[in-house]
Amino acid sequence: MDFRLTEEQERFRQEARDFMSRQLPSDWLHGGVPEDETDYWWEISQKFLRGLAQKGWLSFTWPKECGGQERPLWEDALLGEEMASWRAPAMDYWYRWKMVAALLLNFGSEEQKRRHLPGIAKGEVYWCQGFSEPVAGSDLGGVEVRAAEKDDCYVINGQKIWTSGAHRSHWCFAPLMTDPDAEKRSRRLSMFLIDMKTPGITVNRLESLEGAAHLCETFFDDVRVPKENLVGERGRGWLGAMALVNIERSGLGAASLTQRILDWLVQFAKETKRNGVPLAEDPVIRHKLAQMAIEIQICRMLAYRTAWVQATGQDVTSVGAMVKLFGSELMQRVSNTGLQIIGPYAQLVPGSKWAKFGGLITRDYMWNLSITIAGGTSEIQRLIIATMGLGLPRM
Ligand SMILES: Cc1cc2nc3c(=O)[nH]c(=O)nc-3n(C[C@H](O)[C@H](O)[C@H](O)COP(=O)(O)OP(=O)(O)OC[C@H]3O[C@@H](n4cnc5c(N)ncnc54)[C@H](O)[C@@H]3O)c2cc1C
Repeated sequence: MDFRLTEEQERFRQEARDFMSRQLPSDWLHGGVPEDETDYWWEISQKFLRGLAQKGWLSFTWPKECGGQERPLWEDALLGEEMASWRAPAMDYWYRWKMVAALLLNFGSEEQKRRHLPGIAKGEVYWCQGFSEPVAGSDLGGVEVRAAEKDDCYVINGQKIWTSGAHRSHWCFAPLMTDPDAEKRSRRLSMFLIDMKTPGITVNRLESLEGAAHLCETFFDDVRVPKENLVGERGRGWLGAMALVNIERSGLGAASLTQRILDWLVQFAKETKRNGVPLAEDPVIRHKLAQMAIEIQICRMLAYRTAWVQATGQDVTSVGAMVKLFGSELMQRVSNTGLQIIGPYAQLVPGSKWAKFGGLITRDYMWNLSITIAGGTSEIQRLIIATMGLGLPRM
């Protein structure tokens, strides 16, 4: 058993680190620009995403015949880890590119690949994920937005919700109900690619707790989508959707993101005195920091195991659910403990000149409330682990 990265992996990680430090503004992590949906943030995000494309890093794991370099999946996982450590902007667009690329590579027609993969590889065409509906989130099989076959197209009617980034996206990938009468519930859905400029689509922004308005609701009113935008077989959309949520859940980000916060807090404890005593000498603070270090290490090991399972072509469902669950709950615990340690500074938000670490720990605390919901709730991850991992009966 060897827990070290290989020389090649270390070299790639260093290249990714150098890229981040060149590509992001120098004040990025310490009160620079959090994800705030301003024009300035979007400009930085686009530049960053284009930079990834110029390195070939949006497509390097794809097959050569589809414009890729067939690089090992490990590199993609390490890139994600570094991006999270640097709090790279617009990472959710990056995840959606990975999802839609996987959809096209595994289920797409040659024409769909030819048409859509280059826009992803170049980092130019943005996608949103239209899975959730007011009545269907955890239970994706309950999707009700209807795609009715008519002449040479499908006509879409209904509402999607929590469509992150829909206001900036050119295209959407979404499971829709094509076959309401199918005997098997899982055979009712088909996967579609939808041009967001199609008449009949309305996107409304939804404001969230921490102030970033990237959440949207998307309405479809007699939206006509050509038949060639159906991906894979009709009635097999549920299968495709399940394969994609595994990608969403199995990122390496939580460990490196929380490690960065732990580094800040250790620095804070060394530099700060409370009642004349350095925080670093307070046993309660020391224990909290040590506990954090243990949990981050566990999360990293789980994440590496997930990357290995994925890279070796094994089923990632159960271990992906573990890392999603542990990582998102860890992020909540770390930001909560972080607020306790920085004490009164916890009240200061990004923009305040007195805020510690740019107010990002406070901002994280608010954002992280959603992290155990997005991409599948903790309850659902536990259910998956119980059934797929432990073989307990489905209920
Ligand atoms: C920040 C954020 C970004 C998001 N971005 C997107 C996006 O881009 N695209 C998209 O399609 N969706 C997106 N979502 C939606 C997300 O996927 C759903 O919120 C999530 O899957 C939960 O679905 P729901 O909100 O409908 O809750 P519900 O499914 O209604 O669940 C409500 C509660 O019931 C619990 N519950 C449900 N079923 C069970 C069960 N069988 N056993 C035990 N407990 C259960 C849940 O755990 C939860 O606590 C986003 C959500 C958030 C918070």
